[in-house]
Amino acid sequence: MYRAVWTQRHLFLHVVLLLVRMRSAAADRRGVLADKVALITGSTDGIGFAIAQRPARDGAHVIVSSRKQQNVDRAVEKLQGEGLRASGTVCHVGKEEDCKKLVSMASEKYGFINFLICVAGVNPLAWSTLGANEEIWDKIMNINVKAPAQLVKLALPHMVTLGEKEEQDIWAKPDPRASAVVFVSSVVAYDPEISLGPYNVSKTALLGLTRTLSLELAPKGIRVNCLAPGVIKTEFSGVLWKDKDVLQNFMNRHKLTRVGYPEECAGVVSFLCSPDFSFITGETIVVSGFSPRL
Ligand code: NAP
Repeated sequence: MYRAVWTQRHLFLHVVLLLVRMRSAAADRRGVLADKVALITGSTDGIGFAIAQRPARDGAHVIVSSRKQQNVDRAVEKLQGEGLRASGTVCHVGKEEDCKKLVSMASEKYGFINFLICVAGVNPLAWSTLGANEEIWDKIMNINVKAPAQLVKLALPHMVTLGEKEEQDIWAKPDPRASAVVFVSSVVAYDPEISLGPYNVSKTALLGLTRTLSLELAPKGIRVNCLAPGVIKTEFSGVLWKDKDVLQNFMNRHKLTRVGYPEECAGVVSFLCSPDFSFITGETIVVSGFSPRL
């Protein structure tokens, strides 16, 4: 009896010590993004959450955000539970006040922003481009294209810039302090899905935004890149994978053997932010199990 109680206590103590050790190991991790600050929209679920989790595991402080407070709280709790540095706030990317609040939270808490990752997107089913009314067009273009551009503008004064020099130093070595912006487009930007009409157009526009901003921000040392996922199993893409016929059609068309998972997008984004990617800007990485371009 005495021996059983002793063993139980011993086991309990052992588990507690193990948890404490795991927590501090995660918090102390000197990863490739150690002490950088990453601000991520649409990041309490799906691809955005996985994207937030990865830089945090790589050592960054992450600020997650989305429209609903309870989702923000749940995501922050989950990340902090892993011993990661995370905070969050409500931010509907279509609301300027929310975007300002998100940016000021980062600047007040940390004093600077290293990475801005714009994940939030919308797809009110329109079925066809010409069938979509003005309201649908406005919603899609506002959330998917205008909002990320506006957010870059708001965040820019707080982003770590390398400073524009009077004379260009073409022999300059890569600077590990360089900031990065990452947008989330879609494989339909290259290979439109007929039923997604204006959504395809908005995601192609994001490729244009990526390339244009990469030129505009290059003198400040800020790289701008983009991720184009294929069918990734999340709530958002349910219209594709919940209907067996629609999914099968997509799979046959692209010779796909399976769907993708949010974690398969996350490493790419962390990589796009990391110094390993220091000479790459204006680029889009497709994560879709097939290649839609040359
Ligand atoms: P998801 O699993 O449904 O998650 C969406 C996230 O964004 C949630 O955290 C949601 O939280 C938040 N959100 C939604 N509308 C928002 C808004 N207006 N402002 C701020 N946050 C908002 O979606 P997902 O599949 O990860 O999609 C994320 C992005 O990936 C989108 O841009 C989408 O176009 C793109 N994408 C997805 C796929 C795919 O197959 N899943 C493929 C290609 C591209 P709240 O509800 O709390 O706001």
